[in-house]
Amino acid sequence: MTLLELSGVSVHYGRIKAVSELTITVNEGEIVTLIGANGAGKSTTMRAISGIRPVSAGTITFAGEDITRLRADLRVVRGISQAPEGRGIFPGMTVYENLDMGAYARKDRKNLAAEMDHVFELFPRLAERRTQAGGTLSGGEQQMLAIGRALMSKPKLLLLDEPSMGLAPQFIQQIFRIITEINKEGTTVLLVEQNAQQALSRAHRAYVLETGSIVKSGTGKELLADESIKEAYLGVA
Ligand code: ATP
Repeated sequence: MTLLELSGVSVHYGRIKAVSELTITVNEGEIVTLIGANGAGKSTTMRAISGIRPVSAGTITFAGEDITRLRADLRVVRGISQAPEGRGIFPGMTVYENLDMGAYARKDRKNLAAEMDHVFELFPRLAERRTQAGGTLSGGEQQMLAIGRALMSKPKLLLLDEPSMGLAPQFIQQIFRIITEINKEGTTVLLVEQNAQQALSRAHRAYVLETGSIVKSGTGKELLADESIKEAYLGVA
């Protein structure tokens, strides 16, 4: 079943067209990844889906509902949650408080403790540091906290923008393992990544963005084996 559908979506920054007539579908239960070079429009696409950036053309449908003009906070209520690029955690708040903030959109606060335990199970490092200020965590831990916070709203669709960015190799492996685990537990994932090798090997399907347009799509496996993708994104000639 289709969970998210972008149909002919364009987004402008002033006169600059950052993404152009994108058509993307994400089915329930999938991990879908968007890959592309710097400036290709990946983050802009994520912002359009989470509602931070308005679209100038096209429609966005989520779980059968047209959400093209829906406010960002209401999209969270519908089940879309984003862990933003650059982490965006609250540095002065503790790990616990940061996670609690992620649940603001939930009406049922009674299962919050269970959700928090679940996040601590996925990220034991966060459990150890639950009373520490977010700003004192390492880069990798802050990334985990951003993902954990996004999970606190119990999303149907988790949007991850560059979760491996700036991380040490051992954290990169761990983050990708956890993404697969979150997906196996039933959360659909849309992932933006520069680390195309990891992203394609974890994703069911992928789209390749170049200067605001989709130039290729296929299964993760297909794109991993594609010669032009290997050359452009996987560093193998
Ligand atoms: P990166 O990996 O560097 O984040 P990206 O694929 O996510 O790249 P976007 O950040 O979506 O790309 O940028 C797409 C285009 O929109 C680029 O040409 C960029 O310069 C432009 N752009 C992005 N944000 C803004 C902004 N706030 N104001 C003006 N132009 C912007």
